Amino acid sequence: MTERENLLNLVPADAEQRLAQAMTELGQPSYRVGQVLRRLWQVPAASFADMTEIPLALRTALDERFSLPRLELATSQQSSDGTRKFLFRLRDGEAIETVSIPDGNRVTLCISSQAGCALRCAFCATGAMGFSRNLDVYEIAGQVREMRLLDPPIEITNIVFMGMGEPMMNWKAVDPTLTLLNDPRALGIGARHITISTVGVLPGIIALGKRPEQFRLAISIHAPNDELRQQLMPINTKFPLAEVIEAAKVFDRRVTFEYVMLGGVNDNIEQARELASLARECRAFVNLIPLHPGGSQGFVPTSGNEISRFARLLRGRDVEVAVRKSRGIDIAAACGQLRVERLGRRTPRAPEQDSDVQVA
Ligand code: SAH
Repeated sequence: MTERENLLNLVPADAEQRLAQAMTELGQPSYRVGQVLRRLWQVPAASFADMTEIPLALRTALDERFSLPRLELATSQQSSDGTRKFLFRLRDGEAIETVSIPDGNRVTLCISSQAGCALRCAFCATGAMGFSRNLDVYEIAGQVREMRLLDPPIEITNIVFMGMGEPMMNWKAVDPTLTLLNDPRALGIGARHITISTVGVLPGIIALGKRPEQFRLAISIHAPNDELRQQLMPINTKFPLAEVIEAAKVFDRRVTFEYVMLGGVNDNIEQARELASLARECRAFVNLIPLHPGGSQGFVPTSGNEISRFARLLRGRDVEVAVRKSRGIDIAAACGQLRVERLGRRTPRAPEQDSDVQVA
């Protein structure tokens, strides 16, 4: 027997075509195609059996041809500020994290694109666990789908690729996933509300720039010169700062620089000046991120006052800056941390050390 085709790995145009073919073969009217298509992403059904608006015999026939794989919710935690963190278990036993962050009328979902990560940034918990594998399309977009399947559902308005993994090193899956996130026949989230965060993988930045939709790009800079960036982010050997800056310049939409504030490492006045000149060069918006200490042995967060001072220095040099809020104060919500907590880490950590949580 041939394996059932996974409809959740297909962009809407392809899913529609497969469904149309199946309906023809099954002697069904063509309006059934739209009925099923709608239940893939827009108003997701947990299974074909749940599509009660279509006849039982057809549901059974579709189930024989196609699959709609779920992500299994292994655990979730809710912070008092409303931030929720989900750990999903995949079919091969891998675990990935997703975090929902409410803020006024918006709910941002921070999604993973890989199980683990190969890049080993010095301050990152995901980097410490190493790379397992790329996620499939349905496993990335499925993180949003699962939010719609919760009871009560969480209505996601914004997406950031700031969970586990480097999205530009899984472009093959991220590219169609962007279509699923944005297409009104799938998840229907506006392109301006979808941000891809990368360490600066050039081919990925170029590919994203070629897409006609206004997806947003964030680049993890974290150090204003090669010498320091090299120490913090080994990938700098392959994609050095000058090239990343060049890519940011040619990207025809506004980019955001992410800069995690590491006490005594990248937060002095001279570094603020260097960062300001890079940001001005590509008219980037700078996000200063308080370090979440959970994943990062050997680093301390820059104090709030010093972050404000650093921000003022940048503003004084005509750079637009935001200091990101720490969210999910009482759960382990920084990149990679829930998985580390669940699947074991080398040195157990006191709960309060996991409590100052930074996500997106
Ligand atoms: N690989 C991509 C996306 C995933 S990480 C990237 O690096 O951009 C999303 C952001 O979280 C990155 O800017 C990353 O550097 C940052 N980050 C990782 N660990 C962190 C920590 N402990 N505290 C604060 N930010 C962290």
